[in-house]
Amino acid sequence: MKINCLDIKCSGCRACELTCPKEAIKFEIDERGFKYPEINEKKCIDCGLCRSVCQCCVGKKENDEYKSFLAYYPGNQVRKVSQSGGLFYGLAEMIISQGGIVYGAALDERLEVFQMRVKDMSNLSNLQGSKYVQSDTRRSYGQVLKDLKEGSTVLYSGTSCMISGLYLFLKKKHIDITKLYTCDLICHGVVSPKLYQENIERIEKIEKKKINSVNFRDKKFGWHSHNETYIFEDGSTKTERNYTELFYTHVALRECCYQCQFTAMNKKVADITMADFWGISEVAPEIEDDNKGFSLAITHSKAGEELLNSSKLYIKEVEKNRVLEKNRTREISKPFIYDKFWKDYKKYGYSYCLKKYTIYGGIKFKIKRKILKAFKCW
Ligand SMILES: Cc1cc2nc3c(=O)[nH]c(=O)nc-3n(C[C@H](O)[C@H](O)[C@H](O)COP(=O)(O)OP(=O)(O)OC[C@H]3O[C@@H](n4cnc5c(N)ncnc54)[C@H](O)[C@@H]3O)c2cc1C
Repeated sequence: MKINCLDIKCSGCRACELTCPKEAIKFEIDERGFKYPEINEKKCIDCGLCRSVCQCCVGKKENDEYKSFLAYYPGNQVRKVSQSGGLFYGLAEMIISQGGIVYGAALDERLEVFQMRVKDMSNLSNLQGSKYVQSDTRRSYGQVLKDLKEGSTVLYSGTSCMISGLYLFLKKKHIDITKLYTCDLICHGVVSPKLYQENIERIEKIEKKKINSVNFRDKKFGWHSHNETYIFEDGSTKTERNYTELFYTHVALRECCYQCQFTAMNKKVADITMADFWGISEVAPEIEDDNKGFSLAITHSKAGEELLNSSKLYIKEVEKNRVLEKNRTREISKPFIYDKFWKDYKKYGYSYCLKKYTIYGGIKFKIKRKILKAFKCW
């Protein structure tokens, strides 16, 4: 049984699971590696609470009152380990310095990505850096509820659909959210956690050693580059672009990402949207692009603007439409090879697909992709 007829729009936020009074909802992994809700009909009393917190069931509001800022953390150290200009670090630092709590995407000991709760600066680095895979909210919404009830200030950072689910969950609990700050991302979409794990297993098999950590986009090569680095248990590293290529091929994203309802800037739900400040040399020519990374901060609320202003970040307001021209503000279209990819994956497995559908397949692949792109089939 499914929660609603729009289940392909389910972003897996897990608000329904946490809200069900009968614990009748469990998230199960489908064959592509994404978690979807399954209802135990024997336990279900059809109270409808699950639908009322389902972010894909409720209408979206529009808010055109947003502002855009160039933002970066002063000095090089923070920017070195942040994906863009350290915007997230600056906001999180502000919250933690006031005794608050921060949530964001981190790797656990099995290298699975999940929404981690952080109370002190020494753990904040776990949340820095983009993880190009779906982050599991696990029971974090319930923990946020508890934190807010106890009077803590909370900053929750995640994808827009995740933030939307969080607000609906908290609304149902009638909790005061004045101490809650949220940030979301300009986001391509999230890759299947199963393929991500299979990629790790593939590398471990080749290298015959265990991976301890993953840097999805290693800043060592500069902000404009995109290479992933794997850190092994013996301290050695391996850098490549295979997973990156899979991400950019857009074949392995969650179904809802192809019809994302949050790509337009006036549909965002968080207080602040974080992104890379692409096109900095045109929009803010007075700033030298040192390839260390600059953030774009888009504020959607007064609270968001106040948080940004109170941080240690360097900020400068910029013309909003101009800067957004350089970034993605529409959903990813489903590539025409999508069905074929998943059929091949089922039949032949991950490594076969990596060779056939990404740059890993060599020059033949590059030519094929160029031709398909020219005919707008990619
Ligand atoms: C899947 C994905 C796609 C993105 N696509 C674009 C894009 O097309 N254009 C663009 O300009 N920017 C994109 N970004 C955002 C950009 O890469 C930076 O994450 C953002 O600018 C913040 O950088 P920072 O230096 O402030 O933060 P950092 O210190 O690097 O912090 C990263 C922040 O992102 C959050 N995060 C990381 N991985 C995930 C995840 N899997 N799910 C939810 N939250 C996560 C962390 O919780 C943290 O708050 C994307 C990010 C992700 C995760």
